[in-house]
Amino acid sequence: MPNPFQNALTQLKRAREAGGLSNDVLARMETPEREIRVAIPILMDDGSIKIFNGYRIQHSSARGPYKGGIRLHPQADVNEVKALALWMTMKTAVAGIPMGGGKGGITVDPKTLSRAELERLSRGWVRTLYRDLGPKIDVPAPDVNTTPEIMAWMSDEFEKLTGDKTGATFTGKPLGKGGSEGRGSATGLGGFIVFNALSKKLNLPKNARVAIQGMGNVGGHAARIFAEHGYKIIAMSDSRGGIFNEKGLDPKAIEEYKRAHGSLAGFSGAKAVSNAELLELETDVLIPAALENQITSANAKNIKAKVILELANGPTTPEADDILLEREITVIPDILANSGGVIVSFFEWEQNLKREHWSEKDVCEKLKIILEREAAAVWKRAKNLSTDLRRAAFVIALERVEAALKAK
Ligand code: NAD
Repeated sequence: MPNPFQNALTQLKRAREAGGLSNDVLARMETPEREIRVAIPILMDDGSIKIFNGYRIQHSSARGPYKGGIRLHPQADVNEVKALALWMTMKTAVAGIPMGGGKGGITVDPKTLSRAELERLSRGWVRTLYRDLGPKIDVPAPDVNTTPEIMAWMSDEFEKLTGDKTGATFTGKPLGKGGSEGRGSATGLGGFIVFNALSKKLNLPKNARVAIQGMGNVGGHAARIFAEHGYKIIAMSDSRGGIFNEKGLDPKAIEEYKRAHGSLAGFSGAKAVSNAELLELETDVLIPAALENQITSANAKNIKAKVILELANGPTTPEADDILLEREITVIPDILANSGGVIVSFFEWEQNLKREHWSEKDVCEKLKIILEREAAAVWKRAKNLSTDLRRAAFVIALERVEAALKAK
């Protein structure tokens, strides 16, 4: 399995070459400012004590407080979290929001924990790290397997430990606990806004077909939003596999089926496909919305989509990028495509600090303004540099980080 941090470093180097950027900014980006590893002791329901490994990588504060999610996953390790933190620095810079980049994780399969154990673990992560967090220091958010409820537990633990009542240290909280309207669907909606802003340039047929890998927070909302706008969702999947129907699927019915049965197995009116098969389906748009390293040198030559909208972080390796570029398949890169989540997290932080609550309409309008502006900027830069959208997005991000470093 390719090392995600090595992939991120390769992307940085490629952007430096494409944009003629200085080695100084590259050196700053290659090494996170701080890497924190913690051991979290948790009392299990059977009375035993179990130790979990936790991380917070504070990659760059050049443009503002560290910002980025917390991932709960059995494969979460320091290399994965470092890559995700670096991508957050690039993402907040591409979005042009005054935040830096960070990421957290706990090596755990949350499905193996009871609800009480999960709450103790979430609070434990905060107890071991709270001195390094805060509205003006580091502001974590949700990622894979972190729900609004988990963010509420974390926010509550932080308040108990520090007395800080702003609620602005964690984003992605439930609405009643200081969360922002529109945060739940922000990443999926943001992906659609970016896609829509570029779609005229992408030469796609009307009612284009869309295949989506992963149907959690991001993939689930993306499926609903694309379907609402007339796109034909032909495939969806979760970690256990997916379903496919070339005539189109109803994302709402699929969500309901998954809620009732725990997986997509047995869904009638669709063919079962594996996650690997889903990526190679005959489709116009492919949306990876699960994990890293899904499109690699092993399968890039078999991808049939015309456009890949990266809603997951790091789904495409640099070697696969080369093959896709050669085959003229457009990749809308993660640091632009999925930045809707961090943008609305930034709005949540701002609302918490100002003691305001914005309407969903306001949130979505502000999100749209930022993403349409930045999607156009990335497209234009790619054309000017005769390069792909990933390099162009990285170039813009690195220039903004460099400007912030120079200003200091
Ligand atoms: P989630 O936990 O809500 O959902 C993850 C989904 O992926 C689930 O449907 C799960 O079944 C599926 N999955 C897990 N392993 C899989 C595999 N091997 N193959 C196929 N599907 C698999 O997580 P999420 O918040 O939706 O995050 C998904 C991706 O989006 C991640 O890469 C995350 O970093 C990225 N992302 C999330 C946000 C956010 O706001 N939550 C923002 C930006 C990027």
